[in-house]
Amino acid sequence: MTSKFPSLRRLVCAAAIATCGTAFAQAPALTAEQQRFYAVYKELVEINTTHSAGSTTQAAQAMRAVLLKAGFAEDELQIIEPFPRKGNLVLRWKGTGAKQPMLLMGHIDVVEAKREDWKTDPFKLQETDGYFTARGSIDDKAMASAFISVLAQLRQEGFKPTRDIIMALTADEERGDVESNGAMWILKNKPELLKAEFGINEGGGGELRNGKPNLHRVQIAEKLYTTYEFELRDVGGHSSQPTANNPIYGMSEALARLGAYKFPVMLADVTKTYFSRTAPLMSGQLAEDMRAVGNGSTDAAVIDRLSQTPLYNAQLRTTCTATMVNAGHAENALPQSAKAVVNCRMLPFDDPDNVEKQLVQTLGNPKITMRQFAKPTRSPVSPLQGVVFETAEKLTAEMWSGVPVIPFMSTGATDSRFARNAGIPMYGVSGLFFDPADLRTHGLDERVEIQRLYDSREFMLKLVKQLAS
Ligand SMILES: [Zn+2]
Repeated sequence: MTSKFPSLRRLVCAAAIATCGTAFAQAPALTAEQQRFYAVYKELVEINTTHSAGSTTQAAQAMRAVLLKAGFAEDELQIIEPFPRKGNLVLRWKGTGAKQPMLLMGHIDVVEAKREDWKTDPFKLQETDGYFTARGSIDDKAMASAFISVLAQLRQEGFKPTRDIIMALTADEERGDVESNGAMWILKNKPELLKAEFGINEGGGGELRNGKPNLHRVQIAEKLYTTYEFELRDVGGHSSQPTANNPIYGMSEALARLGAYKFPVMLADVTKTYFSRTAPLMSGQLAEDMRAVGNGSTDAAVIDRLSQTPLYNAQLRTTCTATMVNAGHAENALPQSAKAVVNCRMLPFDDPDNVEKQLVQTLGNPKITMRQFAKPTRSPVSPLQGVVFETAEKLTAEMWSGVPVIPFMSTGATDSRFARNAGIPMYGVSGLFFDPADLRTHGLDERVEIQRLYDSREFMLKLVKQLAS
């Protein structure tokens, strides 16, 4: 599809009046659209949206104002605030109806950030050495601001979407399954607002190696999360007369068995494609092993070698691991209780009941009781074939020639699980590249390379435009 508007890259190159090679010139003048994006981004990261002191309602109102200014009407926008300070912004831009609606989802809450721990104020955008530093500079305000500025631009350009574009900027993603999680709340209470053929969300992104784009991940699945507490009890007694029933020993033995247990390997399309497309980036035995698994091999030696790397192990199987223990009540008493918390990350195509059964069998002590904190939220795998994945591949080839697009199952959770569960295939894709060795999301001094951020915004513009054309 050709556009009558020159690409951002060309504008930037023209504005810089310098030779534009494969990379941007050092500090190119910003285009008008990049300036708007910068203003939106700065405003958004500087609004504190932490749970302790912030308000996503305030952020939602600010973003609503930007869209109104760009020409959207009041009745296209709504702020949904089911809980104080936990507002969500939902936009519906009506399309011609030729195609089914699409959903752009991003969360506008951020993880806590203490001023005294950071080098600079986490809620003041800093610009140093080619980086923007602030809480939310990546997670997830980079994406939320890209959505806002892209939609504002398309609206002002007179773009006519062939499908409804729904955008939801939501609260409390970082706090998990809490009631005020905006994505969860809207999908539960007003599902018709977000009903779409597919959706775009966080969870994907590009990886740099030696400062250059190396691979581009598209998240099409995520593992299911559930936690158990196990307890072994006894009558206790005086520690001067030990018994064989000490629950600390019983629980320790059970946990040692769990530590040694490996859940069975399960290879779905996403796993095989992940390994076969990652293989060419590796060398030697690792590359060979990845290629083998990509071809469906479950050879024990291959699996053993790959399983040495926690990330690959987590791609291959469900995992359950002890995360907390608590036992005894006095240094001079036999314990009456030993408790262990075990956190499980299940493959989305695994059977949670079967996982539980294996867990109980592995602990191997019928006196151990079990309590599950919450049932896992189902989260089906989004189809690998389809317009989103294909468009992401096409645009990646255009913008970062030779960089492979790798479908990915994240081991952590995103709000996409609620949408997938509601029947909306979600894709985590951003075009935002970062150095995995310098990953600071959720951590101190969260930052993003400025040029990578602008590139990601350009990717998002093309993606939204092509998907809605
Ligand atoms: Zn996030």
